[in-house]
Amino acid sequence: MVARSASDGLVKSAANYVPLSPVQFLERSALIWPDKIAVRHGALAYTYREFEARCRRLASALAVRGIGRGDTVAVMAPNVPALLEAHYAVPALGAILNALNYRLDARTIAFCLAHGEAKALITDAEFAPTVRSALGELREEIFVVDIDDPEGPRSEALGSVRYETLLAEGDPGFAWPGPEDEWDSLSLLYTSGTTGNPKGVVYHHRGAYLNALANALAFGLTPDSVYLWTLPMFHCNGWTYTWAVTAAGGTHVCLRRIDPAQVFTAIRNHRVTHLCGAPVVLNVLVHAPAEAKIRFEHVVEVATGGAAPPSAVIEAMETMGFRVTHLYGLTESYGPATLCAPQESWHELALSDRARQMARQGVPMPALAQLIVADPETHVPVPRDGTTLGEVMLRGNTIMKGYLRNEAATTAAFRAGWFHTGDLAVWHPDHYMEIKDRAKDIIISCGENISSLEVEECLYRHPQVMEAAVVARPDPKWGESPCAFVTLKPGGDGATAEELIAWCREHLAHFKAPRAIIFGPLPKTSTGKIQKFVLRERATKL
Ligand code: ADP
Repeated sequence: MVARSASDGLVKSAANYVPLSPVQFLERSALIWPDKIAVRHGALAYTYREFEARCRRLASALAVRGIGRGDTVAVMAPNVPALLEAHYAVPALGAILNALNYRLDARTIAFCLAHGEAKALITDAEFAPTVRSALGELREEIFVVDIDDPEGPRSEALGSVRYETLLAEGDPGFAWPGPEDEWDSLSLLYTSGTTGNPKGVVYHHRGAYLNALANALAFGLTPDSVYLWTLPMFHCNGWTYTWAVTAAGGTHVCLRRIDPAQVFTAIRNHRVTHLCGAPVVLNVLVHAPAEAKIRFEHVVEVATGGAAPPSAVIEAMETMGFRVTHLYGLTESYGPATLCAPQESWHELALSDRARQMARQGVPMPALAQLIVADPETHVPVPRDGTTLGEVMLRGNTIMKGYLRNEAATTAAFRAGWFHTGDLAVWHPDHYMEIKDRAKDIIISCGENISSLEVEECLYRHPQVMEAAVVARPDPKWGESPCAFVTLKPGGDGATAEELIAWCREHLAHFKAPRAIIFGPLPKTSTGKIQKFVLRERATKL
């Protein structure tokens, strides 16, 4: 590496230039806090010394099996230590971690394994039926490892070795090679693929390092932090918290599934200080049965994103003693790209007004270089007037390398030197942006744009509404009209469609009020997004 800069003649060398990699966070924390608990899982607790040794064992055992630089290792698991360990062991070999969305069906899992050219798969017994049939569809045989989690179900082994046996074979002092270059790929994540085959988003070491530090900073992680894994680690590598918590020297508390009783118990027993989740996860906590809601005396920080959090949900969480941070981002931006940075003056506001400020998606994360809200064709930024709609575009080191083996999609996403998010927003005079809709979700009624999020925000403020989603329904007169799907609060007084429509007409411009309201549970993805495409289909058939 010789790069002499023309102006001063100084040279880049091993002394002043090292590839950034999040693996370094583990090495450092294990040096400083060897006896501190790094990972908890049920009755298990690993110190940082043990956590590092387990990661080194895994890396060395994989290396013995022929896994090396540029190879893909897939993991199909809930939030268990094995998946966290893979976040260090695999990139430390220069290999690529493919954390799979365990809710996907066998055909899609087979697609991901084949498209990502996975050489190995580490899999949890819970998903054995799906994985068995996915493996059956593959043309090439891959090395399969079975996780034997004491907290999980038992099943017959699919692979040739159990995870703990593999670790026992490994070398706890293994000197892993690390990446050669910070641009080397470290992670592959498939988008949900609601239309056609999923796209494989590729991250590099540099971006993961930077976004992990930015998240640690934005969310206030310290060595005293205890982070509860309520966000799936397969979702943008847990929004890079898989590395951020380790960077801070905090404790990871694993959790196989989101059960409000377990969440509140973990908060109390482990004195959890931080957790993340989609707004629907927050809503599950808000509406948990009274006996599950164990009181806690300390402040618990909650970061939410992945979908727009209605201000009513933020308000209810704050009332319960949580402090909410609102994040926005995409798989393509390593999870969080913006946050709604709180301003001191907001503390003087009434909670409902403050929650409305916080429901905005905000300003760039510390590691994002630039954000604009702009015309999608001309790329001219919209005025900061809080009303003109434009597309959110991002640029910087925490944007994916591209989509694996999909040049057309990569070129389209990166046109004109910006990453196009496909999200429509307004830009406020204080530089905070506010998402109004995904481009494909906006409702166009008689030539006027209706933000589905604005109508949902209004419905969530109705005292009987627990969840709401608004989609476009074809309308012979208006082109499209808003159609709302609503779940009412259990044990409440209920509400009729007419009452909810009247409520919206009272609080919104009349043309934005839904013309139809359908009651019932809402379909959701594994990352806690309401599946609007399913609702759109239902609305069309009404
Ligand atoms: P998928 O594309 O599979 O849904 P992503 O996590 O990449 O998975 O989804 C990113 C999208 O989620 C964004 O483009 C945006 O539409 C939505 N989103 C994420 N965070 C927020 C937020 N805080 N507010 C509104 N929408 C959000």
